[in-house]
Amino acid sequence: MLSVQLYDTTLRDGVQREGISFSVVDKLNIARKLDEIGVHFIEGGWPGSNPKDIEFFKKAQRLTLSHSKMAAFGSTRRPKAKAETDANLLALTDAGVKVVTIVGKSSELQAIQVLETTLKENLNMIADSIKYLKAKGLTVFFDAEHFFNGFKANPSYSLRVVEVAAEAGADAVVLCDTNGGTMPDEITAAINAVKKQTTVPLGIHAHNDGELAVANTLAAVQAGVTQIQGTINGYGERCGNANLCSIIPDLKLKMSIDCVTDEQLAKLTEVSHYVSEVANLVPDAFLPYVGFNAFTHKAGLHVSGLVKWIDSYQHIDPSQVGNQPRVLVSELSGKRNILYKAKELGLDLPLRGKEVQKLLEQVKLLESRGFQYDNADASFELLLHRAKPDYKPPFELVDFMVVVEKRRRPPAQKSLEEMLSEAVVKVRVGDEVMHTAAEGNGPVNALDQALRKALLRFYPSLAQVRLVDYKVRILEESVGTGSQVRVLIESSDGVEEWRTVGSSTNIIEASWLALADSLEYWLLKQYAKDC
Ligand SMILES: [Zn+2]
Repeated sequence: MLSVQLYDTTLRDGVQREGISFSVVDKLNIARKLDEIGVHFIEGGWPGSNPKDIEFFKKAQRLTLSHSKMAAFGSTRRPKAKAETDANLLALTDAGVKVVTIVGKSSELQAIQVLETTLKENLNMIADSIKYLKAKGLTVFFDAEHFFNGFKANPSYSLRVVEVAAEAGADAVVLCDTNGGTMPDEITAAINAVKKQTTVPLGIHAHNDGELAVANTLAAVQAGVTQIQGTINGYGERCGNANLCSIIPDLKLKMSIDCVTDEQLAKLTEVSHYVSEVANLVPDAFLPYVGFNAFTHKAGLHVSGLVKWIDSYQHIDPSQVGNQPRVLVSELSGKRNILYKAKELGLDLPLRGKEVQKLLEQVKLLESRGFQYDNADASFELLLHRAKPDYKPPFELVDFMVVVEKRRRPPAQKSLEEMLSEAVVKVRVGDEVMHTAAEGNGPVNALDQALRKALLRFYPSLAQVRLVDYKVRILEESVGTGSQVRVLIESSDGVEEWRTVGSSTNIIEASWLALADSLEYWLLKQYAKDC
């Protein structure tokens, strides 16, 4: 069986992505997570390039990793200099690691035009640097930069670079598609040519400029490469690096290469989300395997298939990578979506075919008016409850009024004008009708206060419910102020969060509907717990 080593460079190449910056603590935390999913090498940074990375390697010595080895990155010695006194190489030997990776030019044009040295001196730089590091007892990987472009232009020089690195003692030569524009068949052909020349273990480092980094990496593995370099979520310079979150499951689940254990693979989704949180990037919901929507089903046909046979519309069992299937309820849904969703929410729906059909029509009608339940499970659950003939809501809205007033204050006061909002709410609880009024810092806040005031008398525990997020979206932009508005509210009781939706041409009404749903949902849950 083929065996491969996973080499993660999220902490070095990954931070080259525009907008990512990790602190030393962030990097240490990410290293722990990488260890959990069982990558073999973690490239921690470039100690020769910045003081933050030097500090990282100092602190990383106290990290206890159970699977991964820490690696430091650097470049070959400078032209016409000595390896023993090269600052960059010294920083590598001082990093306190046993594995180092150095990058050097493996393209004739790059050596002459960018490095501005001779082809011969470039070879000497590579050989000297590897020999020096090997003499220090280190494991040395050589990143052959621009290998595939170089091979295309002048194959013999690029092959010579690999050979020189191997002769100098490199433990692996990593072939780099630095510009990310190589095609999979070119990768295979170049690797086959290298294998004819040398037996040194090979690696692949692919960038994603042609959207082929994962495909090229897998092609390289099929051609016999054993070290795989990549990053979590494919973060990296320009369009990114090869995405380990796709490569690891591809290797293990599709190619039967046992690079991590089942338990490690099942942590992949968590680690992907963790790294995006630390990078302060919204996790990409559409990433294969680990994205929130990677196993989400919206079309009714798909869901009806899924109910009969779980694998009918999914390529793997999502739990293998720590993800889970989701079903959306939307205007594309069929009856099956509603029943499946009800089951997912743990609701025993005694609805018959006709009632489900009625509910489906209602969902479609509400969606045509701007409601959307994809991201408002609590409102959807209420729809299901309301469809039951014996449903008794914890309260009913009779009516409300909101006044917004701009007032001038006496000149002595600091601010000459103030905005006042006041809401009057009529609510029925059982046989009683409550009439309350409250002020707020805005009309929605005033409504919230008035509604709570009315309900707190009956349900004192409602005091712990807080509104944590409030989002407004204009649905038909061309209509301007007359357009439909959707309001999404996220609420919390300190333990759980839930989301509700309201829609109307009137922003106050849309907010009111979402707000009332939020409180009704929570009261319903409390009731269920109490009885
Ligand atoms: Zn790179």
